[in-house]
Amino acid sequence: MAKFIKDDKQPTGTGTIKSVTISKEMAAEVSNKITIPMYFYNVILPQMGSYYDNYPVDFDQKIVVCCPLHDEDTPSCRYYESTNSFYCFGCQKGGDVVQLHRYFAEKMNGTMPDRDEAIAFLYNYFIKGRESESFIQVTQIAQEKLNTDKDIVKFNFYRYNLEQSISFDNTLKQEIKEQLWSLLDNIDLLLSLDKIKAVEAEKLLKDKVKELITFDSNIKKIKYKGD
Ligand SMILES: [Zn+2]
Repeated sequence: MAKFIKDDKQPTGTGTIKSVTISKEMAAEVSNKITIPMYFYNVILPQMGSYYDNYPVDFDQKIVVCCPLHDEDTPSCRYYESTNSFYCFGCQKGGDVVQLHRYFAEKMNGTMPDRDEAIAFLYNYFIKGRESESFIQVTQIAQEKLNTDKDIVKFNFYRYNLEQSISFDNTLKQEIKEQLWSLLDNIDLLLSLDKIKAVEAEKLLKDKVKELITFDSNIKKIKYKGD
């Protein structure tokens, strides 16, 4: 399957799972730069729903958290900062961040990626960037999510400005404001359920704004007030 290469050639990032090429540098970067907390915050928490409601994960405060690999009511999964590793006293699974990803991917997808696939995932996700092609190819976790954090941040920026301009625009009829607010609510719900792509949501809103503004001839344009 994957092979190690000795030189410092950059990975092409175009391979499917079977042709993922892991360099020593990639493997080293993954273990040196990606901490267990980073993996929790970016990969585990977004996928665990309300599981962490009772014991929120905050590694600055507590180094023992509820185990993401087995269901438990009280935290028994310990993080060891000095070795960037974890061990669960409940299910007795432990290891480095690569091993954590292998276990977690197995739990979510039903199959455990081999070590090279796990390194490729972590490298692409955290170091090379989330939107690279290979990231989508090496894991099903990414495919299940329609939006990256970046998409959401970008959308929220647009949404914030729109909501501000609707709220403060005295020339806008109340009924139109209400239509737009209700659309915003619906879109928020769809986004929180990951049922719509952020770019599509933004387009939908823009189209609706255009439509309503044409409809209401009093309004020349929606002003963006920023901060
Ligand atoms: Zn466990």
